[in-house]
Amino acid sequence: MVNDTTRLLGLDGLVAGRLEVDVTGVPVVDLSTGCEQARCCPQCGQRALKVKQWTTTRPRDLPVGGRTVRLRWRKRRWYCPTPGCPRKSFTEQVAQVPARARLTTRLRQAAGGGGGGRSPTRGRTIVQAARDHGISWPVVAAAFTAHVSAVLPAEPEPVAVLGIDEVRRGKPHWIWDEQAGSWTTTADRWHVGFCDLSGGQGLLAQVEGRSTAAVTGWLTARPQASREQVKAVAIDMCTVFKSAIRQVLPHAVLVVDHFHIVQVRREALCFREGCKDPTSGCRSSSVTTLRCTMEK
Ligand SMILES: [Zn+2]
Repeated sequence: MVNDTTRLLGLDGLVAGRLEVDVTGVPVVDLSTGCEQARCCPQCGQRALKVKQWTTTRPRDLPVGGRTVRLRWRKRRWYCPTPGCPRKSFTEQVAQVPARARLTTRLRQAAGGGGGGRSPTRGRTIVQAARDHGISWPVVAAAFTAHVSAVLPAEPEPVAVLGIDEVRRGKPHWIWDEQAGSWTTTADRWHVGFCDLSGGQGLLAQVEGRSTAAVTGWLTARPQASREQVKAVAIDMCTVFKSAIRQVLPHAVLVVDHFHIVQVRREALCFREGCKDPTSGCRSSSVTTLRCTMEK
């Protein structure tokens, strides 16, 4: 039966029942299943007749009218009626709340940038999207990955000018290798980013590690025709990147980007002037500060 609360929520296949306000002032809506398809086995499609048990799920959802609303869906687990069906039993699910989902589909899409958004996470970082929706970073990151995987091409368009630089991310992680008797890195704090500097594709890929192998590995995985179209590669003054480009893209012109040249000159000047911390700014004298500001 469709009522006003059901229409307001707009969760297809779910019917709103009692609505109460909890001690913290948050509305809690009791939901029931209003979709016949939900009682059909997802494996064989047969309509179930015998209930195995009742269960309650509390999926998180988008705010309604700017106000947080809690959902409480009491649903059934059914026995599959088909002898030999590997599923044996299943819980009811609808498109907005798939089995085992802790978020509604529309909340996941909103957090990850789907649902009609112009850009992934709608211009927000994953951290900000997680804060805005009150959900964890891994959940938003997974939603974002699912969204961009569906809309991005499997292979980027050929690039004329490629940019390569390292990106620091998170904390490193090691495990002790008993056989080797040494620590092994399981999560590198550095990634290598590949960018399209002359086209409009932006970041093409980010690969874990900061080694020659990390760079050659990603480049050799690209089609030969795409590699041949790279005319120039911009890097910092890292010999690791230089070595990788010489191996995989020997025809490309190697250039050092302006940012890193300016950065090195500024650090050299700071060092000469006795700056205490050349990477974070100058504190030694007004002359040095002025020179470094000009260098920036
Ligand atoms: Zn079945």
